[in-house]
Amino acid sequence: MKKIYIHFLIIAIFFTGATAAFTQTSIDSLLPVRGFCIAAPSTKSIDSFVTFINKELAPRKVNTLILRVDFNYQYKSHPELRDSIALSSADVKKIVAACRSNAIRVIPQVNLLGHQSWANKTYNLLLKYPQFDETPHVKMPAKYEWPNADSLYCKSYCPLHPDLHKIVFALIDEICDAFETDAFHAGMDEVFYIGDDKCPRCSGKDKSVLFAGEVTRIHDHLSLSNRKLWIWGDRLLDGRTTGLGMWEASYNDTWRAVDMIPKDIMICDWHYERPDKTAVYFAMKGLNVVTCPWRNPSIAVSQLKDMSGLRKESTPAMKSNFQGMVQTVWSGAESFMRGFYNNRKDQEGGDNTPWDCFRGIYAEIGKL
Ligand SMILES: [Zn+2]
Repeated sequence: MKKIYIHFLIIAIFFTGATAAFTQTSIDSLLPVRGFCIAAPSTKSIDSFVTFINKELAPRKVNTLILRVDFNYQYKSHPELRDSIALSSADVKKIVAACRSNAIRVIPQVNLLGHQSWANKTYNLLLKYPQFDETPHVKMPAKYEWPNADSLYCKSYCPLHPDLHKIVFALIDEICDAFETDAFHAGMDEVFYIGDDKCPRCSGKDKSVLFAGEVTRIHDHLSLSNRKLWIWGDRLLDGRTTGLGMWEASYNDTWRAVDMIPKDIMICDWHYERPDKTAVYFAMKGLNVVTCPWRNPSIAVSQLKDMSGLRKESTPAMKSNFQGMVQTVWSGAESFMRGFYNNRKDQEGGDNTPWDCFRGIYAEIGKL
C-alpha cells in the first residue's frame, strides 16, 4: 500500500511540475517580454515599492522592470552627478533581490543624448559639465513655455565631445553592476537638438549618422560586458510621412538611422493615442521591438492584440523580433502607487489612468 502511494505521489509531483513548466513556457512563448517601466522610487519608498513588486508585478507575470534611475543613485565613479537625495547600493539591492526572487529582469535607465534638461531645469550632467552642452548658446529660460524662439524642448549633450564618453560609460557600468543586470535602457527619445549648426564638432553633419553613431557607441560599450541596449523608438520613425509628429517620431532627419544601428537593440515603440502598427516596421528592419502603452486601457488592449497576433501570424524569422509589451508610467513610483491603490482619476487623462491601463493590459495578458 505504502509503495503504491509513493508511486502515485511521484507521478503527481511529475505532472504538477510538468504543468507548471508548460504554463511558464506557454506565456513566455506567447509574449516573451511582459514589462513595466517607471521612475525608480526614492529611498523612503523602497520598501513599499518592493511590496508592490511582490504583490502586484509578480502575480501578473511581469518579467521585465525598467527603472528610470538617471541621477537617483549614489554613484561612486562620479559622486558630483548624484542627486542630493539618491538611492544607496543597499536600496538597490533590495529591488534586485525582489526581482530575482520573482524572476523579473530589472533594467536601469539613464537618459542619454537628449532629455538633459526639463522645462527650465538643467540636469546634473550638463550642470556639472556645461562643456558637453550641444547648444550652449541656448540659455535656460526663467519661465519655460512651448513653443519658444529657441525650439527648446530638452537640452542634449554633444555626442562628439571627446571627454563625454569616459564619464557616461562609467555611469552605465556602475548602474548595471549595481542592478546586476544584462541590459541597459539609454532613453534617447525626443532628441530635438542634434547636429546643431553652431556646434563646432557636429555642424553640417548628417543627423541620422550622428544619432546612429551615438547609439552604436553605447551598444558597443555594453557588448564588452555582454549587456544589451534598449532605447525608445521615436527618433527612428519618420514623423512627416507617418503623420506621427515631432515627439512620437522624428522631424529632424534622424529616422534614417534605423538602417544604421546594430540589429540586437531592443526598440521600445511607444504610442499613446492610437494603436499604431509601427512594430511591423521595426521588426522588418530586423530589430527587436516591444510596444509601449501608457494610460489608455482600450488602446493598450488593441496594441496587445496586435502584438500577440503578429507573433502568431509571422514567419519564424519575424516572430522572434516581436518581443512583447512594456507598460510605461511617466510619473514617480510613489504617485503611481498612490493612484493605483486609491484608484484616483488622472489630472489630465481623467478616467484614463496609468494604473487602470496597467490593470487592464495585465488582465488581458493573464487570459493569453
Ligand atoms: Zn555637437
